[in-house]
Amino acid sequence: MTETTIPTIALNNGTAIPQLGFGVFRVDPARTAEIAGTALEVGYRHIDTAAGYHNEAGVGEAVRASGIARNDLWITTKLANGDQEHPEDAFQASLDALGFDCVDLYLIHWPLVEKGIYPNVWKSLTSIAESGRAKAIGVSNFQIEHLERIIAETGVTPAVNQVELHVEFQQRELRAFHLEHGIATEAWYPLGGGTLSDAPVLQQIAAAHGKSVAQVVLRWHIQVGNVAIPKSNHRDRMAENFDIFSFQLTDDDLAAIAALDRGDEGRRGTHPLQMR
Ligand code: NDP
Repeated sequence: MTETTIPTIALNNGTAIPQLGFGVFRVDPARTAEIAGTALEVGYRHIDTAAGYHNEAGVGEAVRASGIARNDLWITTKLANGDQEHPEDAFQASLDALGFDCVDLYLIHWPLVEKGIYPNVWKSLTSIAESGRAKAIGVSNFQIEHLERIIAETGVTPAVNQVELHVEFQQRELRAFHLEHGIATEAWYPLGGGTLSDAPVLQQIAAAHGKSVAQVVLRWHIQVGNVAIPKSNHRDRMAENFDIFSFQLTDDDLAAIAALDRGDEGRRGTHPLQMR
């Protein structure tokens, strides 16, 4: 196992989230215990799952098999879209699947704006947090207006907003809003969701540091202050993606990567308003 101290970001509930985690979206439920277990062996201490991934049980199994103390791990899960009418029951089902008494972070997976009940769903999450079973609560795929609305209606600011964010889609306006409100930015599709950017400048930066493009991209997330949760089914890539703490991108590197942002045209995943 690699002994690396993963940097953390302080959240508004007083906890600190490891900036690098391991995502298990599209990890086969039948292989999740093995794959998440490999990630823990490689050194990851933060796993991002969701009820909608149907693999929470495998994550719990991997944690127990690892022998790592639960307190030394960060576990995030999410409320599935179909469960917005009964968040409390769905949360308990997630805890049961994981086999834990609490999670470190519980997120509303999508706002489902047409359905329009997300402010009430957020109120339910605040009750779950008060019960101590979710240390931090947050949201995912929320845009500024959705964040404004839940903050105005409940007075409770989410600790985290997990959104699509990669070098071609840098979410500048949303990140500025997060910064202003003390919301941590978590990046899904941190590597671009499967196809790494082929921008020559990334190859040049990678060559200059003796690193891969994936490592440069993940290092960029760390230096700009995002939480990043790359996924891989393969140990060698898990290790590659974890080996990003022994080099620093220069200001010139960061400026060159900032220039790769294509604004809304860079989006690769589902638009928050299109998820029903
Ligand atoms: P990523 O950006 O992490 O890309 C993963 C893909 O990149 C896989 O196809 C993987 O292939 C490949 N890959 C991994 N490492 C490397 C590498 N070093 N070099 C080249 N290719 C690599 O996208 P994800 O969709 O997996 O997102 C990450 C996590 O974000 C998810 O697992 C999930 O936890 C979260 N997420 C959240 C969403 C939300 O709505 N809140 C939506 C989508 C994701 P292989 O496995 O074969 O190595």
